Amino acid sequence: MSPPRDLSQTPAVTAAPAQRTREPFVSPYMPKYPDPMSNISSFKIIESTLREGEQFANAFFDTAKKVEIAKALDAIGVDYLELTSPAASEQSYNDCKTIAGLGLKAKILTHTRCHMDDARLAVETGVDGVDVVIGTSSYLREFSHGKDMEYITDKAIEVITYIKSQGREVRFSTEDSFRSDLVDLLSIYKAVDKIGVNRVGIADTVGCANPRQVYELVKTLRSVVNCDIECHFHNDTGCAIANAYAALEAGATHIDTSVLGIGERNGITPLGGLFARMYAADKDYVMGKYDLKLIRNVENLVADSVEVAVPFNNYITGYCAFTHKAGIHAKAILNNPSTYEILKPEDFGMSRYVSIGHRLTGWNAVKNRIEQLRLTDMTDDDAKAVTQKIKELADIRPLSLDNVDSLLHQYHDAKKTSSHITILEKIATPDQLAEPAVKASTTQKQQQPIKK
Ligand SMILES: [Zn+2]
Repeated sequence: MSPPRDLSQTPAVTAAPAQRTREPFVSPYMPKYPDPMSNISSFKIIESTLREGEQFANAFFDTAKKVEIAKALDAIGVDYLELTSPAASEQSYNDCKTIAGLGLKAKILTHTRCHMDDARLAVETGVDGVDVVIGTSSYLREFSHGKDMEYITDKAIEVITYIKSQGREVRFSTEDSFRSDLVDLLSIYKAVDKIGVNRVGIADTVGCANPRQVYELVKTLRSVVNCDIECHFHNDTGCAIANAYAALEAGATHIDTSVLGIGERNGITPLGGLFARMYAADKDYVMGKYDLKLIRNVENLVADSVEVAVPFNNYITGYCAFTHKAGIHAKAILNNPSTYEILKPEDFGMSRYVSIGHRLTGWNAVKNRIEQLRLTDMTDDDAKAVTQKIKELADIRPLSLDNVDSLLHQYHDAKKTSSHITILEKIATPDQLAEPAVKASTTQKQQQPIKK
């Protein structure tokens, strides 16, 4: 079974393009002047589905699948692809070599421990850069690798100097940065910046940080290093996208993502969610740089290979991301979609859907369906009468779009013999609205999210 996805294939009530004339109202809370610290209009994406995503409970990508995912992400236009350390296994080493040799537009990185053996192995695979990481929190220093800050700094300098000498890009990141001592953090970042590291990384490895803490830490770091700043946020407490945004506002330059956010535990900043957030902040930058219409393909590809469904409330591609239900919303959406939409579905290759077979429906939405069905001689009063009947029947159970269409057709036909009022009186339960058997499965999709 596959996850719920293609709403564009289902019959839908959509607004005519001609009606969508005005742009969304710009928030009065936006800054009046450009913020020189902020990189919301110049960030880069380090896509880590093939590294962080491999740490997702269900994930196992063979070489062919990794290549397929790498190509799909490259087609979207992500700036970097991060791969599992070649030190992890023989196959991981070979996969790094294979993907580094594909000639993709995205730069290929691998992620290794801060260790000379790992660094040498990484360089051997032909990747463009190496993301080096070491834990600096007191927890990790005491319970994981057991090294002190002096040792960590010396080791970092040795490894970075080697990687640079091999003509590769290098990032140095601490792990669990938000539970590390600030003085320790700043001194090690300063030391590696001084020897020419390309990026320093902040990682909220345990997902404990909030946007305000992120803003403060990145801003402080920005004032002590000249290199780029990469940020990696776990989503344990639901802040991964907001933290990424706050980091960019404070001067971070690179954000780590994975498709659907898959990763260790409940994962990291999702690629699609970051696109949604950044589109709302600077649509021109995001649309000019990335092919947003391909996000659904790559999400379906990854969802299938790790055997999960795309969540019903997923950013952009979720079952109900562009479904409007309440009558008052439907009326406004049909007049101008910007009233209740900050994201335009068509910019993401998606379709808007106005749900009408329920008791919250309104006659404007029903009238729109009448126009789609080309039942031209039905008046506003007819639409209102049928809407009342839909509400009455939907108090018993929600109607499918086929049920609604059947009601409209029966009413329309009866009008020719002036028996339309009688028809409405005769229909007392939704079961009287015949539904073609072949369409039953489509109908269900319109009514509720499908569980895998
Ligand atoms: Zn992580």
